[in-house]
Amino acid sequence: MPEQYIQVAIPVPMRQLFTYRVPDALKSPTINVGERVAVPFGSRKVIGIVIETQAECNFDLAKIKSIAGRLNDNFNLSQSLVSFLQLCAHYYHHPVGDVFQQALPILLRKIENITLTPPMVWQAKALDNDKKPIVEGLEKKAAKQFALYQIINSHRGISWVELRTLGYSKAQLNALESKQLITEIEQITTEFNWQDDTLNQNNKLLLSPEQAIIVSAINHSLGKFSCHLVDGVTGSGKTEVYLQAMEAVLANNQQVLVIVPEIGLTPQTLDRFEQRFNVPIALHHSALNDKERLATWLSAQQGSAAIIIGTRSAIFTPLHRLGLIIIDEEHDSSLKQQDSFRYHGRDMAILRARQLNIPIVLGSATPSFESLHNALSGKYNYHQLHNRAGKSNKAKIALIDMNQQQVEFGLSGTLKHEMKQTLARGEQVLLFLNRRGYAPAINCQECHWIADCQRCDKPYTLHQKQGLLICHHCGSQKRIPPQCPSCGSVRIAPLGQGTEQLESRLEELFPDNSIVRIDRDSTRKKGELAKLLQEVSDKKHQLLVGTQMLAKGHHFPDVTLVAVLDVDGALFSFDFRASEQMAQLLIQVAGRAGRASKPGKVLVQSNFVDHPLLQDLVHNGYHHFAHQALTERKQALLPPFTFQALLRADANYPSYPEKFLRELTVNRIEGCEFAGPVPAAMEKKAGKFRYHLIIQAKTRKELHRGILQLLAQIPNNEWLAKVRWSLDIDPIDL
Ligand code: ADP
Ligand code: ZN
Ligand code: ZN
Repeated sequence: MPEQYIQVAIPVPMRQLFTYRVPDALKSPTINVGERVAVPFGSRKVIGIVIETQAECNFDLAKIKSIAGRLNDNFNLSQSLVSFLQLCAHYYHHPVGDVFQQALPILLRKIENITLTPPMVWQAKALDNDKKPIVEGLEKKAAKQFALYQIINSHRGISWVELRTLGYSKAQLNALESKQLITEIEQITTEFNWQDDTLNQNNKLLLSPEQAIIVSAINHSLGKFSCHLVDGVTGSGKTEVYLQAMEAVLANNQQVLVIVPEIGLTPQTLDRFEQRFNVPIALHHSALNDKERLATWLSAQQGSAAIIIGTRSAIFTPLHRLGLIIIDEEHDSSLKQQDSFRYHGRDMAILRARQLNIPIVLGSATPSFESLHNALSGKYNYHQLHNRAGKSNKAKIALIDMNQQQVEFGLSGTLKHEMKQTLARGEQVLLFLNRRGYAPAINCQECHWIADCQRCDKPYTLHQKQGLLICHHCGSQKRIPPQCPSCGSVRIAPLGQGTEQLESRLEELFPDNSIVRIDRDSTRKKGELAKLLQEVSDKKHQLLVGTQMLAKGHHFPDVTLVAVLDVDGALFSFDFRASEQMAQLLIQVAGRAGRASKPGKVLVQSNFVDHPLLQDLVHNGYHHFAHQALTERKQALLPPFTFQALLRADANYPSYPEKFLRELTVNRIEGCEFAGPVPAAMEKKAGKFRYHLIIQAKTRKELHRGILQLLAQIPNNEWLAKVRWSLDIDPIDL
């Protein structure tokens, strides 16, 4: 038999492919690109992905090993996905094996054979005369069960994962099953097909002229690459635009990929998709277990799922009939992965749309400056939605000068007054404080000693309920010391205020109102977030306290007062992106208020109300602010007018990372400029000292070439053995 060699991507931190021989016994059937194979690597056996097959090999044949086996299951990658992942690795200069590793569901990276039980879905049973009264009874007495029944009844089959994400419980499901209203069946795995009842016409809205123009522009661009930025405030009808643009794609029996910052946070969006289309929807998010993740992957690959909704890594799902990509909240920083493979979900989505020749839609009320720049310069199709759909007014933002106020527990007199009035009208109040825990530090009131995490040189956050000090940078925990280790005093007290403390203060100030806190600590338990959000919309609580989490995508129609307790941190940051993020946050938070027919009000507390950034944002709005900032960035030669990469290095001693990076700056690189090395914003984290070097170029091409040169020098770097380093292309935090 003729010799056969394959190039394989292996999950190791090396930037290369590895060559293996295919032994005769494994040559039939023909090995294809995208196939998973077991290969020996050192003393281990690992799963690799075939990237190329070839008849010849120019290495020393004696050193080439044979593959150990083929997996012979149906979980191979398509040629198109393989090329996409290679493009990603190339763009980020990231080890190709690691890119494949991160893109594949964990179960596909294991050597053991996978046994998959067929995925199950829920279906409504025929509604005979015996059952009609049961359903009517539910409508009167068990609203949630009735809603669950309705959603199951409007689909040919809906999975537990979807129902769970929508906020329903196993108990509610069991109740319907025991009433003989629903039953569980095996999911059909054939490709989905558009049918007469696929679209739920009743829920479809008549588009406004602005919306209609956008939908038609997107529909006209089907089948070729184009990027559309839909820029409109919360409630302006972006989601309706997505839904109607998707219709034509689905009717064409193509798939739609929707990327959102966090589905668990926005079950309403999923609900809208479910209500509109009777198609199998596959979900991809952090609350899935390994089997559920694989099931999503498979239903996307087989084409049984018509819509895939997921967080950033959903961009790597195999979709051979993909017709449209939608990125909602495209400005959201959670789209960027901030460790190991540092990719941006939006940017890779654009790359994929280009590869597949399909349109992509980016939506936001506060577009990232990158996207805005691309839209204004004509690279993207720019669509603006100027009005809120429906009747409600835009929330007004007002600044409160904290220097002029009586302040109690971080609340100004003006704010307290407004809160009382809002509560008296029976409406809800949202207080936004981007600091979880009880207090951001504890200190000694005699000698001002502060409890610092030794590994990060930053104060511990006090978590009163758990009775612990927790470092928010490295996660290390410690008991609260009974005495000051410096002077022995027992007068140790919290310093500053976090959400946990605010919650308990509000309990004192507003004893007649129910308060709910929504942050990462209060929603750790599975299903807890959906439960709390439901309680808010049921008006069980009048006061909401939350962190950044609450700025994402929720709609709280009865919240008519939103207050941002402290914006000052972002005003004085050295990171040029801090003001962009602050502006986005303020406008997003403001967008949560006064949705229905009630106008909302937003109060922002600051000690620096005259700060030009704040003034501009409040008086002239986000777009004016963004234009100003873009002009400044252009003058300062900052992104998006230039292109950056960050080379990070850390070590147990501060001198090593610095020396490592400095050595790389000795040789000039044409077309690129260096800034640094400088200590990172968090100079010390988890015991490591961190430095970085900024590499900047006028074009992406020059940056790319420069980085290749830099990477080529690294193996000879004198300090290499002493440091850990990583590369971040298009970094979003410095
Ligand atoms: P966004 O995604 O921009 O926040 P949505 O699409 O969710 O906006 O629309 C906000 C609200 O307005 C929703 O309740 C939606 O049902 C309603 N809406 C959207 N478009 C229309 C329309 N063309 N006619 C009537 N109501 C609409
Ligand atoms: Zn002391
Ligand atoms: Zn720490």
